[in-house]
Amino acid sequence: MKKPDVTRKKPVVLIVDDDETLQLVMQSSLESEGLTVALAASGEEALQTFPAVCPDIVILDVMMPGMDGFATYAELQKLPEAKDTPMIMITGVDDLDCICRAYAVGACDFITKPMKLPIFTHRVKYILRATQTVKALAASEARLENAQRIARLGHWEWHIQENAFFCSDDISHIAGLTHPHTLPTYEAFVNVIHPDDKAHFLKAIKAAETRLEPFDLEHRILTAQGAIRSVHHQAEALRDTTGAVRVIGTLQDVTERKQAEERIRYLAYYDELTALPNRTCFKEHLEQTLKVARHHKRIAGVLILDLDDFKRINETFGHAAGDHLLKEVSERLSKFVRMDDVISRPGCEDSESSVSRFGGDEFTLLLTEIRREEDAGRVAERILQVLSEPFRLNGQDLVVTASAGIALFPHDGEDIDTLLKNADTAMYHAKRRGRNNCEFYTHSMNAASFERLSLENDLRKALEGEQFLVHYQPILDINTRKLTGMEALLRWNHPDRGMVSPGDFIPLAEETGMIVPIGEWVLRAACTQNRAWQEAGFEAVSVSVNLSHRQFEDPKLYEAIANGVNASGLAPHYLVLELTESTTMKNAETTIASLNKFKQMGIRLSVDDFGTGYSSLGCLRRFPLDVLKVDRSFVREITTNTDQTEITKAIIALARTLRLKVIAEGVETEEQLLFLRALGCDAVQGFLFSPPVAADAFARFLTPCAVPPQPEVGQVC
Ligand code: C2E
Ligand code: MG
Ligand code: MG
Repeated sequence: MKKPDVTRKKPVVLIVDDDETLQLVMQSSLESEGLTVALAASGEEALQTFPAVCPDIVILDVMMPGMDGFATYAELQKLPEAKDTPMIMITGVDDLDCICRAYAVGACDFITKPMKLPIFTHRVKYILRATQTVKALAASEARLENAQRIARLGHWEWHIQENAFFCSDDISHIAGLTHPHTLPTYEAFVNVIHPDDKAHFLKAIKAAETRLEPFDLEHRILTAQGAIRSVHHQAEALRDTTGAVRVIGTLQDVTERKQAEERIRYLAYYDELTALPNRTCFKEHLEQTLKVARHHKRIAGVLILDLDDFKRINETFGHAAGDHLLKEVSERLSKFVRMDDVISRPGCEDSESSVSRFGGDEFTLLLTEIRREEDAGRVAERILQVLSEPFRLNGQDLVVTASAGIALFPHDGEDIDTLLKNADTAMYHAKRRGRNNCEFYTHSMNAASFERLSLENDLRKALEGEQFLVHYQPILDINTRKLTGMEALLRWNHPDRGMVSPGDFIPLAEETGMIVPIGEWVLRAACTQNRAWQEAGFEAVSVSVNLSHRQFEDPKLYEAIANGVNASGLAPHYLVLELTESTTMKNAETTIASLNKFKQMGIRLSVDDFGTGYSSLGCLRRFPLDVLKVDRSFVREITTNTDQTEITKAIIALARTLRLKVIAEGVETEEQLLFLRALGCDAVQGFLFSPPVAADAFARFLTPCAVPPQPEVGQVC
């Protein structure tokens, strides 16, 4: 056996013949045409040579000793690498039987002996070329098929007159037409088009058939297995010379793209947590509603709802519980919206988008069926009622309130932004009015909001700008009228507005959280001043500093106060912290813990404005208090209103049982003083003696020490 020099640039021919002469003749003829030749003298040798040389064509003599040409052919066919290799059989001239058999087994040509060499060579070359073309075509088809498979694209062709339908495997796959034994038909193909989309498709096919109009559709397919797929369908119609029309089309499976698009749309328009429409969706819906309302000259409304104290719920119960609550609130609101005919007409599919989550704990409702302003008010009332039912959170019943603001079209605004802004302003006012209620927008609210905003801006600069100062009001023993202490009261000397009253800026400082640094500043200033007076040789008296409930929410409160006191050098027992009743009630457990730490330091504690909140003295028993301040609203009417007298009497009596000192605030007349003394009050504070005054002016109340200063023996109340 002779092995060819296989560079694979030249086609390789394997000649299998026992006739050596013929072998050589064929070889030299083929080699002279630039082909490479391998030789085998028998069928057995051919089977061995084939895998080694991998010929592009085999020339096989039929008549050979041992394995004849047919047997060799059959064996060669079993080799995987020989599957697509063309084979030419060499037969006798008249051997018709052999020629027929050669074709029957799959040989692609035959050559008769005696052979005409030039023709033989051309024939081999021709078959080699044809094979190359077929191979290139197959490769190209495979590439196309792969590309279509990757693109999930299939093609089909329908010859209308003959109703002949062909389609690629991908179509069968996409459309679920995979019955193994039946070829897909046009009818079966139409059958899988989703029932809701079928009419549309058939209309397009009809237009293609009659007017040769191409089409480009997106529709769904409902497979026999029940799966729904989205497809992009393009087709065009061609008419041949006989007038017959065929439609050819491509079908691309775009299900995943569609799903992604839907998901993107969902994320853009819906809130993930509650599945309610989000701000964008709500605004679009509001825009539509306003168009209709404008056209029909109707009223429409926007209601903004904000949960009260949601931040605290989140902090107390954790974010997971907060999320859970938001979901529950959404469910209640959605249910309410479905039932309420002012929000939407019953049965109207748009009702779902009438409630949305605007962000955080803020929800919006669209009021589309309002006839009178009162209708909107009633909706708000009912919503607040629906929400007032306790929610179950972490195994506890939790009462949640909300504040609502309403703005009506066209009265309160003609466009979405104005309406939303005004509803928000109204909601904000509802919150300030004490929460759990609803406000309608009024034009004066905007002025108030503007005013608030500018005050807020100024407040931010006040601390740095050293615009704050502390005034002091004396506290005197009710019997001896001797100074026993003072209350430090914050003042804001605004560069343009002059003195701003604490009542005007403290609530704002609390809302914005600015009270925390401001309060720290007051404490340092008051302690430092008190210490300075002691060092200047005045008798030591205590200083009371007000603490806001917001300061109690600050985890660094204790640290801040301890640092402030220590930095001033004041002995802690000259400091009294005043907290309001609501502070103590709001954070009972955490407050007790902080108060105990203050007590351990030696700081004393006082309840301010007692009687104005909801706490009972019994409740206060749990707090380590020292002083109770009777609110000035009681003192004011103490001599004229017997009810107030009785209450004050009871407060003082109970305070005594709790061993608390009692200070009466706002004492303005001698008469009030005498009355309070008769009731057993310990100390007084009020305009009768002095309003709060600057530190310089306060010095006149201080008594110089007879002996060198001994702060520890100072009389404190
Ligand atoms: P408060 O702690 O109850 O302070 C007593 C208020 O009553 C003071 O008002 C004082 O000027 C006023 N007052 C005292 N005697 C009389 C009187 O005889 N008649 C009348 N009509 N009023 C009297 P002010 O200084 O305007 O402070 C108001 C409130 O602002 C304070 O009430 C306190 O709650 C708060 N505040 C003041 N300074 C601070 C502070 O530094 N921090 C905090 N968190 N709150 C403060
Ligand atoms: Mg006070
Ligand atoms: Mg007070």
